Amino acid sequence: MQCRLCGAPSTLIAKDHHGYQEGNTFDIYECKQCNTSFVLPVDFTTEIYQAIYKNAEFVPGYNRYYYYRKQAKASKDALKFLADAESMYWAVQEVLHNFKGKNILEVGSGFGYLTYAIHQKGYHIRGVDISATAVEEATNTFGELYECADVFDFYKNHLEEYDLIILTEVIEHLEHPVAFMECLYKMLKKGGKIFVTTPNKSVSSLKDPWMSDLPPVHLWWFSEESAAYIAKQLNCTVSLVDFTKFNRNNFIKPRYKIFNDYGHIPPRLDSAGAVINPAPWNGDQIGPVKALAQKIVTRIMTTRLLDPLLARPTRPIEKSDTLAFLLEPIG
Ligand SMILES: [Zn+2]
Repeated sequence: MQCRLCGAPSTLIAKDHHGYQEGNTFDIYECKQCNTSFVLPVDFTTEIYQAIYKNAEFVPGYNRYYYYRKQAKASKDALKFLADAESMYWAVQEVLHNFKGKNILEVGSGFGYLTYAIHQKGYHIRGVDISATAVEEATNTFGELYECADVFDFYKNHLEEYDLIILTEVIEHLEHPVAFMECLYKMLKKGGKIFVTTPNKSVSSLKDPWMSDLPPVHLWWFSEESAAYIAKQLNCTVSLVDFTKFNRNNFIKPRYKIFNDYGHIPPRLDSAGAVINPAPWNGDQIGPVKALAQKIVTRIMTTRLLDPLLARPTRPIEKSDTLAFLLEPIG
């Protein structure tokens, strides 16, 4: 089987692997050339997303997005709240500094809280999402910041319009990621950049062939090499976000050899579309004393001397579960 990203020969690493919904199975392939995993069949359907969003408060993996929406709405500095909570939003915050007064677009704005958080900090941003339900709910919660559209149509009316396009946790869901990225590329002003986050395959220390949301929700698992390949296809340079500062301030258990790395991911929906083990997410509820102690311990564990001894070799200080990169057109 040819790699669906780079076309090199790929290897079948799991046949009939369980999917997001019970009863659905997928074959998982890995390409050594671009260090990317992908699934077949690419059975793209919106039904599963409807089941997820209808139950978002209780679906493991998505329940935290529901929680973020609630907290962002109540927060005076929603971006700081998000950046403290999760590495991908921290990366967004790091990248944003250079884009004050510039034109920003968030693609796949979903619940809407990230677009809102950036807007709240005084940036000029709009969100676009393919789901009418998501856009309606985001508008009701956060105001008129969103538009419902398919990027493959949307780009035609927004050529060379944006200085920054943000794409968090979207690319791994797409049937044709490079074609999608080409649409984003065409919406960039001269000097504009695309910022992407996606789960990082290269940090996993486990033998499990798939460690993020199961297919057909996620269809890809990318690495630094995948990012470089995508950049090359788009005639862009790629720069990876360095997570050292985030890791020095946040205790990430799976980074350290003394704890387990993230384990096996089970199906989240039964064959009828109901949530298996429904549970709300309420954040990491630790008190201020424990939080301070954790911060101090993390600072010590991540010193230049100790970190290489304590951290898994797959998780050096500059890496995170999130792969985050900036693409900038050449010339
Ligand atoms: Zn490949």
